[in-house]
Amino acid sequence: MLKEGLEQVRSRIENAAARAGRNAGEVTLLAVTKKFPPDVMIEAFELGLREFGENYVQEFEEKHPALITLGGSTLECSARFHLIGHLQSNKTKKAAELFQVIQTVDSAKLVRRLAESGAQMELMIEVKLSHEEAKYGAPPEAIPEIQEACAAYSNLTLTGLMTMPPWTDDAEPSRPYFRRLRELAVKHGLSKLSMGMSHDLEVAIEEGATCVRIGTALFGPRRKA
Ligand SMILES: *Cc1c(COP(=O)(O)O)cnc(C)c1O
Repeated sequence: MLKEGLEQVRSRIENAAARAGRNAGEVTLLAVTKKFPPDVMIEAFELGLREFGENYVQEFEEKHPALITLGGSTLECSARFHLIGHLQSNKTKKAAELFQVIQTVDSAKLVRRLAESGAQMELMIEVKLSHEEAKYGAPPEAIPEIQEACAAYSNLTLTGLMTMPPWTDDAEPSRPYFRRLRELAVKHGLSKLSMGMSHDLEVAIEEGATCVRIGTALFGPRRKA
């Protein structure tokens, strides 16, 4: 089942890239494995997936021991783990130990906390582009301050922006948010764009995504918490 899901997602990515005149190789497929057990992640790894997204530090901490061999020390064929859920400042130390990429940085304070760990890390800024109450992310005006904070530490590499538009079933309503994120990345000299999920990955790729975060289309529906 995962194999078929993966084939479908890969062909969706290829078709969207072709339509947009882009090379599908520019788009990283991030497998979002929240609420799925380690054996599903291992199966995904065996099918060739190498980048994994998790939402909760504690959930990933519990799964991590079963995954050491994936993340291990070999350079080739080692997996990378991205935190794509909100990071609380009291969890930064643990997050720095577990993740190679933190996509949800939303304040300079969080950057300083992550830097203190000394771990080598890739960071992205989560940008809040809608006015929904319950959304995390930094307002666009805060990007320069967060960039400056990152630049002060040699163990941190800031590579891009991430966003999550308000939820809809349709893909098209996401387009203006994705376009805005790209404009902000260009303006601030950042190259990576993490945007697009199962239902709107085509639109995201058309608007320049370099990383699409896919859960349901690969693994099926998640069990309710
Ligand atoms: C759960 C989640 C995804 C994946 O969503 P699907 O619709 O299952 O593909 C992507 N990004 C974030 C931030 C998520 O929390």
